[in-house]
Amino acid sequence: MKRVYNFSAGPSMLPQAVLEKAAAEMLDYNGTGQSVMEMSHRSKAYKPIIDRTEALVRELLGVPANYKVLFLQGGASLQFAMIPLNLKKKGKAAFIDTGVWSDKAIKEAKKWLAVEVIASSKDKAYNYIPAVEKVTGDYDYVHVTSNNTIVGTAFKKFPDTGSIPLVCDASSNILSEPIDVSKFGIIYAGAQKNLAPAGVTLVIIREDLIRGKEHPDGDLSADVPTMLRYDTHANEGSMYNTPPCYSIYMMGLVLEWVKNLGGAEAIGRMNREKAAILYDYLDSSSYFRATTDKASRSIMNIPFVTTIADAEKAEAINKKFVAEAEAAGLVNLAGHRLVGGMRASIYNAMPVEGVKALVDFMKKFEKENA
Ligand SMILES: *Cc1c(COP(=O)(O)O)cnc(C)c1O
Repeated sequence: MKRVYNFSAGPSMLPQAVLEKAAAEMLDYNGTGQSVMEMSHRSKAYKPIIDRTEALVRELLGVPANYKVLFLQGGASLQFAMIPLNLKKKGKAAFIDTGVWSDKAIKEAKKWLAVEVIASSKDKAYNYIPAVEKVTGDYDYVHVTSNNTIVGTAFKKFPDTGSIPLVCDASSNILSEPIDVSKFGIIYAGAQKNLAPAGVTLVIIREDLIRGKEHPDGDLSADVPTMLRYDTHANEGSMYNTPPCYSIYMMGLVLEWVKNLGGAEAIGRMNREKAAILYDYLDSSSYFRATTDKASRSIMNIPFVTTIADAEKAEAINKKFVAEAEAAGLVNLAGHRLVGGMRASIYNAMPVEGVKALVDFMKKFEKENA
């Protein structure tokens, strides 16, 4: 059997131990004679699976008791709409624009709210995180993208928003290191980068932001579709309708794997070590370089280019790099179609050996092509 090192931005690698466990349990989960895929979500066998996954989310991320953990569908992209629909009160929200995903969230929110972009890094092709210390104003929420998957930047410190709920799209760095959940109103993440296969979206939401009939601010507008209301899902333990059962089970296995490694602190140390290996090489090479501002570097997504000045030549070398890397078992290293170059996504499941293999390959490629 051949396994490659997969640097895909998402869906992405899953830990091999998790895939092996899922394979072993595929035909007969825990003596039930069924696959988890085949079970009723209301069955006695399935209930402990979703409960265990939620308990592990709470334990590993240190989720306070006044937050709900929801397993939803529609990807992080549906949250771009659910958030304004559910949090709209005064009718205005603030966004920090740090790339393509924040921009998509902004465009969607504008359908229901007045949006103020209070800071942006668009002026420098999003290669840095704009400094915002404090946000004040009559906003219903402030939205940030903690890790920018395409350009490879990440917040090192979040703005102080006082009593305004801070809402965070953490799709590409959820559980990559510890995070203080209590600083946020909502943290949401499509699971397919760091937590599970595609199909489930994790939403961690402070209870006072879930508006239902009994909420002091009154019920949500009646035209918010039932499936797009947080209270619908919160009141039913993410079982208002059929949840993405198998992806939730897989998330449980991934979380178990993180717990066995030592939790968020330990995985954070490993991720910083992995990223340092690649950045150190990029900073020392005269042939390759990282594209992002040093102070804003992501430890999950690392875009890089060659230092070749001629654009056509550079493009040809990029293609050669990606093809030869693939032949060497290092796959999905092409940069995002919007930014070009190369990108290594090194999420939790990427072992340090994969990053070392990439750097060894890059050194060899540099020698042969420089
Ligand atoms: C991948 C990604 C998304 C989109 O997630 P979907 O689950 O495909 O909707 C949104 N935001 C960020 C930061 C991402 O990396």
